[in-house]
Amino acid sequence: MPSKPESQVVCPDCNEKLKKCLIQQNYAIIICPSPTCGYPFNQRDVLENLTYVDDNDVLKVAKKRLSTRTKP
Ligand SMILES: [Zn+2]
Repeated sequence: MPSKPESQVVCPDCNEKLKKCLIQQNYAIIICPSPTCGYPFNQRDVLENLTYVDDNDVLKVAKKRLSTRTKP
């Protein structure tokens, strides 16, 4: 299902479990939830953490937004 292997599930800096943060339609970034860590924004290759998100995942988020936002 994921385009990348799920090998990196914990933060390389602090071993916190990484999570996906949807930043755009179909794109998410893998971030460390630890506020003291800041991964991957302390890395050079932040874009390495960009990952494509399946439409099914986006749909969940989109449905949430639909409840708060009306169509143009
Ligand atoms: Zn971390």
